[in-house]
Amino acid sequence: MKYKLKGLYEFVLNSFFPVRCPYCDIVIDPQRYACGECSKNFPEIPITTYIEGGIRCVAPFLYKDSYAEAVKRFKFNSRAQYAKAFAFALVNALGSSGVDLNFDYITCVPMHKEQRIKRGYNQSQLLARHCAELMQTVYIDALEKFRQNQVQHTLSGAERRKNVKGVYRALNKEKLKDKRVLIIDDIVTTGSTLAECTKILSKSGCGEICCAVVCCAE
Ligand SMILES: [Zn+2]
Repeated sequence: MKYKLKGLYEFVLNSFFPVRCPYCDIVIDPQRYACGECSKNFPEIPITTYIEGGIRCVAPFLYKDSYAEAVKRFKFNSRAQYAKAFAFALVNALGSSGVDLNFDYITCVPMHKEQRIKRGYNQSQLLARHCAELMQTVYIDALEKFRQNQVQHTLSGAERRKNVKGVYRALNKEKLKDKRVLIIDDIVTTGSTLAECTKILSKSGCGEICCAVVCCAE
């Protein structure tokens, strides 16, 4: 009965809000994660970068062309529904990079409460929740952004590092001790935000930490 209701709910949802290919925004079969044309052009090899502290960060795409446009629509044009398809790309990228997918928890870069209310959602949290579902892992709110700061993309590298200091704090510390945690965000540029988040989690007693994002800046 539960599954029948879920099916009905999805049917109604898809009728009013059809599933779209995140990379070109055309309507696609709700069972698919991208249109045929965009799937054909996916990069074969994921990108691996290392942020401060030697933490591995994996991304399926570079932040350019249709991928950059897709992430912008996801963040600024109310395309929250892209989260599911992006999470699929993210989990695939982690798997093909040889990352052990056996995490204890999946979390995200948090958004300040006021900003979240304004946007209606935290795109990184949506991604993290879908990744947790795909990887059959537990999602946890491990961090909180308790202070507003300037928007990162308007700042230089040094300013970005300074801008993220003292704005995040750990939550659920007792659960995180010695655990393997995956932190999800939408984009990595200089890595300042992810570096600050991983530093806080490490100080809180987390074990191994890995990061994954949809796009990595060139
Ligand atoms: Zn497409």
